[in-house]
Amino acid sequence: MHGLMQDRPLTLPHLFHRAERHFGNKTMVTATADGSESTATYAEWATRVRRLATVLETLEAPADARVGTFGWNTQRHLELYFAVPCTGRVLHTLNIRLFPEQISYIAEHAEDDIVFVDRSLLPVLWPLADKLSTVRHFVVIDDGADADLPDDPRVHDYEHLLAQAAPHEGDFRVDDENAAAAMCYTSGTTGNPKGVVYSHRSTVLHSLVSLTADSLGLSERDTLLPVVPMFHVNAWGLPYAAVFAGSDLVFPGPAMKPEALVGAIERHRVTVTAGVPTIWMGMLPLLGEHDLSSLRTVVGGGSAIPRALSEGWREAIGIPITQAWGMTETSPLASAATPRSHHDDLDAEGLAEVRATQGQAVPLVDLRIVDMDAETEQPWDGVSAGELQAAGPWIASAYYGDGVGTDAFTADGWLRTGDVATIDEHGFVRLVDRTKDLVKSGGEWISSVELENHIMAHPRVTEAAVIAKPDPRWTERPLACVVVTEGEQLTEDELVEHLRDRVAKWWLPDEVRFVPELPKTSTGKFSKKTLREQLIG
Ligand code: ADP
Repeated sequence: MHGLMQDRPLTLPHLFHRAERHFGNKTMVTATADGSESTATYAEWATRVRRLATVLETLEAPADARVGTFGWNTQRHLELYFAVPCTGRVLHTLNIRLFPEQISYIAEHAEDDIVFVDRSLLPVLWPLADKLSTVRHFVVIDDGADADLPDDPRVHDYEHLLAQAAPHEGDFRVDDENAAAAMCYTSGTTGNPKGVVYSHRSTVLHSLVSLTADSLGLSERDTLLPVVPMFHVNAWGLPYAAVFAGSDLVFPGPAMKPEALVGAIERHRVTVTAGVPTIWMGMLPLLGEHDLSSLRTVVGGGSAIPRALSEGWREAIGIPITQAWGMTETSPLASAATPRSHHDDLDAEGLAEVRATQGQAVPLVDLRIVDMDAETEQPWDGVSAGELQAAGPWIASAYYGDGVGTDAFTADGWLRTGDVATIDEHGFVRLVDRTKDLVKSGGEWISSVELENHIMAHPRVTEAAVIAKPDPRWTERPLACVVVTEGEQLTEDELVEHLRDRVAKWWLPDEVRFVPELPKTSTGKFSKKTLREQLIG
């Protein structure tokens, strides 16, 4: 027997129309590059989304065009977040922090048709313009910066286009909830970045779960400041969740300095904010100087939230950091460490311990831990460790492009996260290790393997291994262990100089250790485990 409920697709137009009808009076504030702020109501924003939909038509973006964005967290970025998928096209947020070669690879691979770029970021993107063979238009969003505008027929002004476009009339319609809505690329350990493609359905369900009380409980009464970038996993899906709930929004724009963020929280009475530990670390010394009494939840993820950091916040303003875990492949929210009723008897120490875990799977996400050698599922006893695997309606089933990264999925369709964890009897996950060979610095990945290849390309280097070194500010930084060819000399400065043209500046190793040889495993691979034990302890 079938249920007799209406079969209505779960698509982003619903979120848009709901916000337009119910929350017209709610507001969005954006900080600009010149230090000022702009404010709009949801009603004004919605009209601009409708105009932008017409602009996409005017620019003749094909029905399923990938529309790239290269921008900060702003109201205009949120216009793209809706106009692109609500017209059936695919939003492709390009990560501004990647090395130029990676950016052009990603835009080419996704076959971006148009790229919308913040004026302050033009100096990064424009030198690549001729390498982006599929991009027909570059639309510059004025964000208060004074970067020169290239004299080129492909370049347009966002506000000019919007002013000329009549608002799209009637409801937006996307019939297939499984159609692609957005895509993000994530760095692989080896090889090129891999594309994760979110559907309307996955995005709607993922947003809905951010509104549930045991995750973030985002509501109409909240004022959200998403610090996590909109070019990184859709700012953890928070912009969609906020529009779903009708929360007021505060966008930091390019103003990502701790002083600017604390000021924005105080001025706009922000209640919920989210970002990586590096951000919360930077703000910690400033907390006492501001009235942050409006805050109710500070979400941290992307890397483990050090217990001392969370406790530092709690001691300063009474709000600890709520740890969440996820990946680009998991949209990303998969688990959150909000204490539960069985934690009620714990003292402050015990609660700090709970918050130092990666938390319990959110509704609709299944997690398991698997012993990779025996391929057996491990018990939830808080001690047995295994690879963390995830399944659910907003967990990737494949990467974009034939056969890419297929070993990231198990035969029964679960995502292999590359994280190693224990799970306790209540389902609280604790990450204990990582099998993926990456360094996570300030919330973004550095590929150890790629860095090693560049180091080993130096004519006087025989072997190199890069490991993650714990860092109080960036969580991790790369430490390079290098074997210099016999009879040759090499200094740290020379090696860093060699890398300078090959990798992004923030990938340059913080420290180079010259060693006579690298420890190997029984199969002859570099044993990073031994290196970590020897060098980091
Ligand atoms: P994001 O940075 O948004 O979480 P990425 O795909 O860039 O997404 O990185 C995902 C990886 O980051 C996870 O597989 C894990 O290794 C690490 N990570 C994310 N959240 C946490 C957390 N709370 N604690 C420890 N590691 C985390």
